[in-house]
Amino acid sequence: MEEFIIPKSLNEALRIMSEMDVEPFAGGTDIMVKYRYDKPAKPFLFIGDLKELRYVKDDGEYIRIGSSTTYSELLENRNIDKIFKEIIKKIASPSIRNRGTIGGNICNASPAADTLPFLYGMDCEVQIVSINNSRFIPIKDFIISPKRTLILKNELLKEIRYKKEKFNKYFYRKIGLRNANSLSKLSFFGCARIKKNIIEDIRISMGAVSPVVAREREIEKMLLGLDKKGLNSIKEEIIKRYEDIIHPIDDQRSTAEYRREIVLRILNYFLENIYII
Ligand SMILES: Cc1cc2nc3c(=O)[nH]c(=O)nc-3n(C[C@H](O)[C@H](O)[C@H](O)COP(=O)(O)OP(=O)(O)OC[C@H]3O[C@@H](n4cnc5c(N)ncnc54)[C@H](O)[C@@H]3O)c2cc1C
Repeated sequence: MEEFIIPKSLNEALRIMSEMDVEPFAGGTDIMVKYRYDKPAKPFLFIGDLKELRYVKDDGEYIRIGSSTTYSELLENRNIDKIFKEIIKKIASPSIRNRGTIGGNICNASPAADTLPFLYGMDCEVQIVSINNSRFIPIKDFIISPKRTLILKNELLKEIRYKKEKFNKYFYRKIGLRNANSLSKLSFFGCARIKKNIIEDIRISMGAVSPVVAREREIEKMLLGLDKKGLNSIKEEIIKRYEDIIHPIDDQRSTAEYRREIVLRILNYFLENIYII
């Protein structure tokens, strides 16, 4: 029989993790799939109900989210941006959103994880804690490759934070088999701040077309300061640059060819319509 440990506080959870080898879980919606055939090798540590990990705060500079906050809680919170809520509404189904957490989505580090393109686009940082340490790491450095992060055996993801930056254009597309309970074949997040028809800032990130989210600040910088005519003049070059940095694969959900073709078409649409969306 599997062993479950239910700590009463974050401190107790971290102390247990410093003393024994356990597998933490929050909503369990990824873990249950992982162990549908295999027997767990170590005890589970349930961190889903720890109140120190369930919050959304606006401290003026950052939106700060506790890792065990569920999707349903995020949807109900007024500090969460409208675009992030639109993205969350496309994740799974209401029952999974009642259990699944933002921290689980990040730590599971799937290339198809749906919160990641937005969080990469927002230059989000994650707070990693152990019994005697705490550090913030940019999410792009935290996730190393599919299913692998920098987290150590005795550490937990505590907080996800991103700056309250102002963009006036937001765009998101998720391509899946159907609307509910469908993992992404690919996804696309874009946002921009455009004033007097000039691009002051722009972020573009793509999910499930590379081992980790594809985002490249150097390409985004090529678009800064451009008006519509300027953007049109380098649009094909920009698309070519993204074509070079993505590395889609064939798997049970889609083909590399489909992913490449569709994500670049969505990019083209985003660039052509950015002034009017
Ligand atoms: C039917 C179904 C549909 C789904 N649809 C989608 C979808 O549309 N889009 C999508 O992105 N995902 C989807 N998922 C995947 C899953 O629901 C999400 O990834 C969810 O966010 C995982 O959160 P969780 O709390 O359940 O993770 P858990 O299963 O609890 O944990 C996942 C992993 O993260 C680790 N972990 C969790 N919290 C922490 C922490 N604080 N610190 C350190 N490690 C931690 C665990 O050890 C485990 O390795 C779906 C899953 C199912 C079963």
